[in-house]
Amino acid sequence: MHPVRTSLLAIGALAATVHAQTPDSKPLGYQDTPIIPGTKWHVHDGERPQPRIITPGENSTQATPGTAPSDAVVLFNGKDLSMWKNHSDGQPSWKVENGHIEISPKRGSLTTASEYGPDIQLHIEWSAPQPASGNGQGRGNSGVLFFGKYEVQVLDSYENKTYPDGQAASLYGFMPPLVNATRPPGAWNIYDIIFNGARFENDKLVSPTIITVIHNGVVAQNHIAVPGPTSHKGLPTYKPHPEKGPIVLQDHGNPVRYRNI
Ligand code: MG
Repeated sequence: MHPVRTSLLAIGALAATVHAQTPDSKPLGYQDTPIIPGTKWHVHDGERPQPRIITPGENSTQATPGTAPSDAVVLFNGKDLSMWKNHSDGQPSWKVENGHIEISPKRGSLTTASEYGPDIQLHIEWSAPQPASGNGQGRGNSGVLFFGKYEVQVLDSYENKTYPDGQAASLYGFMPPLVNATRPPGAWNIYDIIFNGARFENDKLVSPTIITVIHNGVVAQNHIAVPGPTSHKGLPTYKPHPEKGPIVLQDHGNPVRYRNI
């Protein structure tokens, strides 16, 4: 027999042996271990439901937006505003070009056509106008508002001072970010936000809204319980509200860009 043929046959026999030793019927995990408090599952319980399998997205680069995980709701795919309406008149009037949305100043905020909640993971990328113009709150101001009420600030905070609870990645009017990770005007900033909306029972607050913000890969807000929806020049307080709502991108008069939402 030719030596190559001999080795191929040997590999085939080995593979069949390995398969026979790992039958699918072997139980996963354990049933003789303690029950995990607050669950009905044993420690290492093989009967516990398997997490859904998804395909993760590709990461963005400055030149190219990444892709969404397979189970995400894609709010903007680089092409159109079909998932959005305008805050004021129902017709989305912001510009879509080169794979991004650009705010049309003074045409109103952009609102998702659907409502989301109570818990949301949002990936969104934004870019402040280049060259920079204005200063403080007047430079590259926009914002991401969950339920249309809770604002994570978008602002050109690159070499641009303002009150700390109003800079980029602040929970506007309440909590400055832990760091200022803002990229220069024209560059893409990435927010990954985990939003847990407030729960009410019989119009009483049961648990507050909790927000985590990761800005360009750095934790800017770490599981912050907020005292109520965003307020300008006032103290936030809770009034009962629905446990879902639209995501709103704020028109604050500056042509900020968004992509990969
Ligand atoms: Mg704003």
